[in-house]
Amino acid sequence: MLRNDQLDQWDRENFFHPSTHLAQHARGESPNRVIRTASGAHIEDRDGKRLLDGFAGLYCVNVGYGRPEIAEAIAAQAKELAYYHAYVGHGTEASITLAKMVLDRMPANMSKVYFGLGGSDANETNVKLIWYYNNILGRPEKKKIISRWRGYHGSGLVTGSLTGLELFHKKFDLPVSQVKHTVAPDYFRREDLNQTEAQFVAHCVAELEALIDREGADTIAAFIGEPVLGTGGIVPPPAGYWPAIQEVLRRHDILLVADEVVTGFGRLGSMTGSAHYGIEPDLITIAKGLTSAYAPLSGSVLGDKMWKVLEQGTDENGPIGHGWTYSAHPIGAAAGVANLKLLDDLDLVANAAEVGAYLQKGLRDALGDHANVGDIRGEGMLAAVEFVEDRADRRFFDPERKIGAQVSAKLLETGSVIGRAMPQGDIIGFAPPFCLTRDEADMIVAAMTRAVNEVL
Ligand code: PMP
Repeated sequence: MLRNDQLDQWDRENFFHPSTHLAQHARGESPNRVIRTASGAHIEDRDGKRLLDGFAGLYCVNVGYGRPEIAEAIAAQAKELAYYHAYVGHGTEASITLAKMVLDRMPANMSKVYFGLGGSDANETNVKLIWYYNNILGRPEKKKIISRWRGYHGSGLVTGSLTGLELFHKKFDLPVSQVKHTVAPDYFRREDLNQTEAQFVAHCVAELEALIDREGADTIAAFIGEPVLGTGGIVPPPAGYWPAIQEVLRRHDILLVADEVVTGFGRLGSMTGSAHYGIEPDLITIAKGLTSAYAPLSGSVLGDKMWKVLEQGTDENGPIGHGWTYSAHPIGAAAGVANLKLLDDLDLVANAAEVGAYLQKGLRDALGDHANVGDIRGEGMLAAVEFVEDRADRRFFDPERKIGAQVSAKLLETGSVIGRAMPQGDIIGFAPPFCLTRDEADMIVAAMTRAVNEVL
């Protein structure tokens, strides 16, 4: 095992960390966190310090850490057949089995799954397929994609553009011109504090209609959204939002992409966010929970409507010119099969619903009356606490004070609990593994209460 000082030195000399302040890290001003092992909902760092992972990595280790069933499936696949590609009709038992298992868990109108590696590339695939679809239909102008401010859909060129967070655009020349943003369905952050929830939904719909009018419906191909806004602040939609948005999209012949990278496979306490909210998407993005991050794997799940046109396209133009070397990688597929079995065998989606509700209630009971807590919200095994300087007029803190980051650091230092300071706003997010116990939920609440009271 490498000594700590050696790890630190090599890390700072060689390792480009994603989403990191590069200069501060290189100067040694930000901590070097090296994780060594993990089990259940706990991770352990190189010094043997155990932390309760209230964010399941990046809300992805849904079945929890250290599952031998998945590790063994991966090892068995690597020994039997580490790799073969999926081009021109090739496949493996694992990839074919997983495609069947995925479709069995998706809404009934879903027809096929294309496997990628992560959420970003899956959304990149989605956009390309949407453009292909409209070209085959003879509508070359219908190409723009509408996304929401505060949405998160990846950090590639198009997907980073879809992401509606300034940090992901700034100095990267994004968003690209084909991407347009509309308002976030974040009732807590509504501009007009007098609006009721229903009035706010009407406002979201009117803003979408106005954007479509300005751009012209014949130039807009699709709308993409997460069933629950994730990285943008863990914000469940206001009641009636999805049906109202869908009605507009249908009327203008605009496809709907449900980005279920976070919500897919149980995080909301239902198998999909689409089922949870009655969303009827044309395309669904899946990743994280597909393998619980035991191996990188994602998917673009296509509905019948698009699939038929894609088939027609290849009859007219030859094979589809899209694919990655690692599409449907057998090791990822084997991990996915074992992961989805475990989800069923241990009834983990039901646990996510039950313990998730318990965690949210715990947070509300403990912090609901705190003068600087503006909102406590969640759905299933997703929860968030948002801070304000003044509750009465919902005045936010000066971002320079970095209240969210301070609470998150305190939570870690004094409570050994990981809660994520979300990138925009003073919001602490929780998205624990689905195997979380009530005792562990109590630990999160106790640690959070202490951290909030110490910082504020
Ligand atoms: N979509 C959503 C909803 C996500 O939360 C994420 C990642 N957090 C992505 C897409 C991008 O996935 P990846 O980081 O695997 O590329």
